[in-house]
Amino acid sequence: MSAAARASRKWIWLGATLAVGGAGYLLYYGPGQKFTFETKKSGGASHTLLAPDALDPNAFRTFKLSDVKQYNHNTNIFTFDFDDPKAKYNGKTASCVLFKADIDGKEVVRPYTPVSRPNTIGHLNFVIKHYPKGVMSKHVHSLKKGDSIEIKGPIPKYPYEPNKFENLVLIAGGTGITPMVQMIEEVLLNPNDKTKITFLFANVSVDDILLKETLDKLAEKYPDRFKIHYIVDKVDKAQAKTWQGEVGYLTVKMLKKLSPMPAKKDDESLLVMVCGPPGFMKLLSGEKTKDFKQGELTGLLKDLGFTEKNVFKF
Ligand SMILES: Cc1cc2nc3c(=O)[nH]c(=O)nc-3n(C[C@H](O)[C@H](O)[C@H](O)COP(=O)(O)OP(=O)(O)OC[C@H]3O[C@@H](n4cnc5c(N)ncnc54)[C@H](O)[C@@H]3O)c2cc1C
Repeated sequence: MSAAARASRKWIWLGATLAVGGAGYLLYYGPGQKFTFETKKSGGASHTLLAPDALDPNAFRTFKLSDVKQYNHNTNIFTFDFDDPKAKYNGKTASCVLFKADIDGKEVVRPYTPVSRPNTIGHLNFVIKHYPKGVMSKHVHSLKKGDSIEIKGPIPKYPYEPNKFENLVLIAGGTGITPMVQMIEEVLLNPNDKTKITFLFANVSVDDILLKETLDKLAEKYPDRFKIHYIVDKVDKAQAKTWQGEVGYLTVKMLKKLSPMPAKKDDESLLVMVCGPPGFMKLLSGEKTKDFKQGELTGLLKDLGFTEKNVFKF
């Protein structure tokens, strides 16, 4: 059995979405342990209101690595504890944070997206992929429990409002899934939010797909509100026999088949959110500008009649 298959067997979905103390939980079970993205209980509504903010948007604070779980062959889930165990994660959906570290005498800063729910008490979880030549990701993957990292934030990315759109189309490449996790939880855990989500998730190979079991169970649990389509660059011969998703890079034809399309120019009932590595962004929507503005819409989404009004680049 491959390392990826072994790792993914550890994560058995219980099919339960629980509301505990005001925070939503997507619950997993690993051997001998229960695991959620929220590995520790969040406080009740009044409790979290009083809790101090863990993050400072204007200054880096130091957080200790308290837990690491292997997710698959190149990605781990990292838990960083707040200094004050009563402090809360003061980010809203959708936000990211900045990691800073001194690596080989150089200050390195990179953005990462917490997968913990807003108001989580005591800690933050991150899903981080290891790039063998990646400066920060290699550093984070080399950290041992008790080591620390500096984190600043939250940096608000998109102020989501329930029921603002009829359809939300999320298109992610690889670890671009992390802000989508925030969006999916925010929408599905709110029974009053009627927004329908179509999630197109592109990966290099089947073994690279993060959270597949979780996503499949969500699609089963919320058939009217959540649809997922997987796209992989390639499949091997054995996988080709059973693979039901798409194969190859995203194309206009694939998008037309898988995603709701704008009914008219600037269609306000529809929002597409895109997140992924530079090549992926270029293909779909064009990259953001160097000063992190949305920039011009180009790529497949423009070809399909989407406009800057209904596309958001994370
Ligand atoms: C808003 C935002 C949120 C993000 N959230 C997350 C997150 O939650 N989890 C996560 O793992 N990453 C996330 N990223 C990506 C992250 O910020 C880093 O870019 C990534 O970890 C690589 O940094 P590095 O220093 O290791 O690599 P670098 O030293 O910057 O790059 C070295 C080499 O690594 C490879 N590489 C780097 N980035 C990518 C990539 N995205 N795709 C393919 N190859 C790449 C390339 O070969 C590159 O030449 C996010 C990015 C943004 C903009």
